[in-house]
Amino acid sequence: MYDLLSMTPSELSELMQAWGEPAFRAKQIFGHAMQGIPPAEMTTLPKALRTRLAEECLFPLPSIEQKLTSAVDGTVKYLFRLHDGECIESVLMKYRHGNTLCISCQVGCRMGCRFCASTIGGKVRDLLPSEMLGQVILAARDSGERVGGIVMMGIGEPLDNFDNVVRFLHLVNHKDGVNIGYRHISLSTCGLADGIRRLAEVDLPITLSISLHAPTDEARGEIMPVNRRYPIAELMAACTEYFAKTGRRISFEYALIAGKNDTPAEAERLAALLHSTVGADGAPVHVNLIRVNAVKETGFHGTSARDAAAFAERLSRLGINATVRRRLGSDVNAACGQLRRAHAGKEA
Ligand code: SAH
Repeated sequence: MYDLLSMTPSELSELMQAWGEPAFRAKQIFGHAMQGIPPAEMTTLPKALRTRLAEECLFPLPSIEQKLTSAVDGTVKYLFRLHDGECIESVLMKYRHGNTLCISCQVGCRMGCRFCASTIGGKVRDLLPSEMLGQVILAARDSGERVGGIVMMGIGEPLDNFDNVVRFLHLVNHKDGVNIGYRHISLSTCGLADGIRRLAEVDLPITLSISLHAPTDEARGEIMPVNRRYPIAELMAACTEYFAKTGRRISFEYALIAGKNDTPAEAERLAALLHSTVGADGAPVHVNLIRVNAVKETGFHGTSARDAAAFAERLSRLGINATVRRRLGSDVNAACGQLRRAHAGKEA
């Protein structure tokens, strides 16, 4: 069976050739598939081709298991059910300049970050490119609005599902399909340095975000087990290479945890780290500060708005661009992994 929504136009061309169909059918099929139209309903195709596609291809669009709309800011959180019954989350965020969808790339996660709800039950499986596209298609269809940007910041570690993620990026960017510009796509990683280097080789003009969260190996190792495999020096070296290769600005995510990583001394260490590593090579860096979302299992609490602003101000004074991110959808469990967990708990 072919996974239709994971196939590129050139793979579809090859398939059409093998089936003795004219080449232009590939473009038609791709265009329909990317709108979430199943083979049986691709009415511009001859009946026989539709039937053959329906017989030989899987077309597993997710279904909406639950949907929560924030009364505060209109953020929509979707819990999607996949063909095998597993659930994942996506969050549609509405900004003045357009809608951005935060998508998941794995069912669960095996990275073990201590503040994160997505990793609590470990990783169940990787998502296919079609299942990442399915989130984009369904969110657009359900909201009736265009998804103009994507952030890979939902459940899972994108660089731990490298090939499927890169294939998804190519597909979602394709002009005959969803057509989302690479510059409107961000990929966030907990810091798999090898994956960052591989991504640099692929050389897509997307924005890379690094979940740094602490400026020293000691502090980072305590909250992010991945730091034992890729310590900060190695991570920063990979970031420097990434910038050298792609010329793209790198963003650092820093979740402020009350009493853990939010002191003035930590801000100073963070600025010194960035200046002496990626910044030293001339790469423009940006720090996104987010007050950690409390997850009941983790016991961590977010820094106050006032202390977060002071942390940002201190970084800026030290020459590091920093902004405190708005918290969207705080009333709809918008922090990744929380809805899936709540749902699993109900079924158990
Ligand atoms: N695995 C990737 C992408 C998914 S997590 C990564 O680690 O970057 C997306 C972002 O949300 C990361 O920066 C992650 O550290 C952050 N995050 C996870 N749990 C959080 C929480 N409870 N509060 C605030 N940010 C959190």
